[in-house]
Amino acid sequence: MEEFVFCRDSETGLQAIVAIHDTTLGPALGGTRMKVYATEKEALLDVASLARAMTYKAAMAGLDLGGGKAVIIGDPEKEKTESLLRAYGRFVERLGGRYITSVDSGINQYDIDCIRRETKYAVGGSAVGGRGGCPSPATAYGVLEGIRACATQVYGSPELKGKVVAVQGVGNVGRALCQYLADEGAKLIISDVNKALGQEIMNRFGARWVEPDEVHKVTCDIFSPCALGNVVTEETLPEFDCRIIAGAANNVLADNSLADRLHESEILYAPDYVINAGGLIYVANENTSCTSPEIMAVVGRIGERLAQVLARANREDSSPLWVADKMAEERVQSVKGLLSLRSSF
Ligand code: NAD
Repeated sequence: MEEFVFCRDSETGLQAIVAIHDTTLGPALGGTRMKVYATEKEALLDVASLARAMTYKAAMAGLDLGGGKAVIIGDPEKEKTESLLRAYGRFVERLGGRYITSVDSGINQYDIDCIRRETKYAVGGSAVGGRGGCPSPATAYGVLEGIRACATQVYGSPELKGKVVAVQGVGNVGRALCQYLADEGAKLIISDVNKALGQEIMNRFGARWVEPDEVHKVTCDIFSPCALGNVVTEETLPEFDCRIIAGAANNVLADNSLADRLHESEILYAPDYVINAGGLIYVANENTSCTSPEIMAVVGRIGERLAQVLARANREDSSPLWVADKMAEERVQSVKGLLSLRSSF
């Protein structure tokens, strides 16, 4: 970890931690999460592991960005005020661009609009002049291309027509993914704790409904977690009846060692930070001159990148997660080597 920045502002009650994990590839981009933590230590551990994951995500997405993340300690429902967000924005501004913030749970695009009043180092706010806005469709598109790469590996073809795909969670990403999958002719099974939303999506796509606590057990070709993390645990792992787990959710595995267990069980697990990088690619390009189709073309390359991971995992008889970790570290180390070589001249 390069740096932790503790942000405290007595006037607004702001208590936040920015973690800058690695800036070898570029400024550290990562969202700000707002939630209640029992202790500051718990917040520190969370932000540290989230920041590290962002380094890997940006490295594997081929971006010139490092990894960072921030947490605001507090209840977003009760404690999120304009003055608190603006005080936080001023801390981000003081970091001079080493850290660029964005949305995460508890912090939405309108909060970013507010933070942006104090800093230029924030992306993922409301669309301005046709640029920016919600990254979820880009995330869903990246997941679709990732699923195709997995299908090629397991079923010998990227074709999804007739494949049964269970989508857990039909929120912003899940429902956009359902649209892509339906367009491809996949047969959908869906689940969501929000029954009204689930019903609407079920009717729209002629999908089959499964109760939230049953969805991971359903017989399908591809299981796509698009809700929360901790989907694969010691308890749930033996209950999966699919050959591919590939979705948008972060921290799908309760523990990284479960990646080996899935590999042994011949269930292909697409590393979350590789397959769900579409949103990061989208917001990273917010202030560039790239057009929307150009950005989506970059997002689409998630499929190729995942295919490389899977091919190497096959060669090394290793889980795709460990291979992705290695590939991300190799990219960071090679650029670090290049930079130290440059500075010695
Ligand atoms: P969202 O909040 O819009 O949707 C999540 C949906 O999951 C909601 O409809 C919720 O009711 C449902 N849900 C919650 N618990 C559930 C359960 N146990 N079973 C079934 N459904 C459940 O979130 P989102 O933006 O669609 O993101 C989905 C996941 O993808 C999250 O884990 C997020 O961190 C990750 N992700 C999102 C993006 C993005 O661009 N939005 C990018 C990368 C990763």
